[in-house]
Amino acid sequence: MEKDCLFCKIESGEIPVDKVYEDDDLFVIKDITPQSPVHLLIIPKKHISTLLELKEEEKDLIGSIFMVANSMAKENGIDKDGFRVVANCNRGAGQSVFHIHFHLLGGREMGWPPG
Ligand code: 5GP
Ligand code: ZN
Repeated sequence: MEKDCLFCKIESGEIPVDKVYEDDDLFVIKDITPQSPVHLLIIPKKHISTLLELKEEEKDLIGSIFMVANSMAKENGIDKDGFRVVANCNRGAGQSVFHIHFHLLGGREMGWPPG
């Protein structure tokens, strides 16, 4: 728990939001500024500021993120047409909240390369 971290405050309940999924290690919320019809954020409960801070012991956690992404994609009906899981690392890549999170995007055609 980092005291000035938005996602730590959401995790602890200090900032109330509807969690669409939660388990011991992570939770999922709707993005406040959705970039596609389905735009969820999959967020580990543990405060890790960027992907660069990941440790060996967090390998299982990253596996869980993708298992939850799969089930959320199915639940939201975006599995067949396709979806994208995005993690921005550092400002140049678009990271604005420094507590790692994985965007699950779907429900529209996606361009490549990403902007
Ligand atoms: P980043 O830019 O770090 O990759 O992603 C941060 C995401 O968090 C952005 O897509 C932004 O819209 C979202 N976000 C920022 N503040 C809030 C908030 O208070 N609630 C929710 N649900 N999403 C937020
Ligand atoms: Zn945090």
